[in-house]
Amino acid sequence: MMNPALRECGIGGRYVRVRVEAGEFEEALRLLPAAGFTGTNVTIPHKFAALRAVDEVDPLALTLGAVNTVRFENGRLWGSNSDGPGFLRALRESFGVEARDLRILLLGAGGGAGRAVAIQCALERCRRLVLVNRTAAKVEELCRELRALAPGAEPEIVAWTGDALREALGTIDLIVNATSLGMDPADPPLAPAEALGRNHCVFDMVYKPLRTRLICDAELRGARAINGLSMLLHQGAISFETWFGREAPLEAMRSGLEGAAAALEEETR
Ligand code: NAP
Repeated sequence: MMNPALRECGIGGRYVRVRVEAGEFEEALRLLPAAGFTGTNVTIPHKFAALRAVDEVDPLALTLGAVNTVRFENGRLWGSNSDGPGFLRALRESFGVEARDLRILLLGAGGGAGRAVAIQCALERCRRLVLVNRTAAKVEELCRELRALAPGAEPEIVAWTGDALREALGTIDLIVNATSLGMDPADPPLAPAEALGRNHCVFDMVYKPLRTRLICDAELRGARAINGLSMLLHQGAISFETWFGREAPLEAMRSGLEGAAAALEEETR
């Protein structure tokens, strides 16, 4: 999606992948501006090291404890994080809703992406925030953090059992899957399918495959459902805006991303 965006805006440059070993991350990051780079995305496992390596960090990235976008300017490194803002934009574009108006149930709240979404939803003061995670200790810790960060947000924890989810889903508007379950067709179902209904929006952050079991189950029961591509797209647009200080060419990025995702899906079939 980035190379079509650069072409669309007439920016002479390329988006390339650079593989860096953990022990060499900071040195590599500091070498990039001299090599002509404007900025970079940072992915697993370097997002935490990136927070320590940058000269300036935006408050949301500091709260999340992770940086995934770096801009190089006047010899300084500026770090930010697009996870939460990308989620909000995707929600707005795909379902026409704002997180603050919703009762949200988040599966996988203890992972990296889940934590980012939970913090963003708490900061937005969503109407209800229900956290679910396989490892209970992680969401208990996150809940303590959220109460300190966003007083009044009142996050709740629900155990990952069929009965507990069935009961919770009766008073939920948006279900978010932030676990890696769904990437393998043999994965168990995330939630009891019969508890999904027309009153639900489902946001599956997985984008490979494009149609997960959760999405199929949700649509069969009349819910509206999207995969993780929209969040990826909007995260990309936020990075582009961060690097170039101009609006991202969203449609060029969307068609680049959808083309790449479809080709990948075809390849793995
Ligand atoms: P992560 O930090 O490794 O977290 C994985 C999460 O999945 C944890 O909550 C983990 O629970 C849970 N999990 C893993 N296996 C499970 C199982 N068998 N049963 C129940 N829960 C299980 O990974 P991440 O970086 O947050 O990524 C999570 C997913 O989000 C991936 O599919 C990734 O591709 C997607 N993602 C999408 C976007 C996007 O733009 N669309 C952005 C970021 C991530 P425990 O805490 O109990 O281990």
